Amino acid sequence: MNCPSCLSVTTKQQSKKTSLGYRAFRCSVCHHTFNERTNTPRHMHSYQEALATAEESIRLAPHDPDNWLRKAEALKKLKRRKEARAIEAEATQLRKNKTC
Ligand SMILES: [Zn+2]
Repeated sequence: MNCPSCLSVTTKQQSKKTSLGYRAFRCSVCHHTFNERTNTPRHMHSYQEALATAEESIRLAPHDPDNWLRKAEALKKLKRRKEARAIEAEATQLRKNKTC
């Protein structure tokens, strides 16, 4: 199984399974451990990073609607649409407060 983190093909199956019974693997290149249900190819990973960055911006500037929209965008890419909609509503609300 290819490493979901660095896409290396040199991964080893672990003798132990995960708590849910999935086969576990370890990458010989980046030492990332993952299981057969892990699905985080590189593009997913970058969306997760985008989400983390957006969350950090929100923490620093919670009243800037653009930060919230950035988070909503990342959530949509990660297919977390319900959360994204809630965040977008938050951004709209902040924008309203700003203009008033
Ligand atoms: Zn790897």
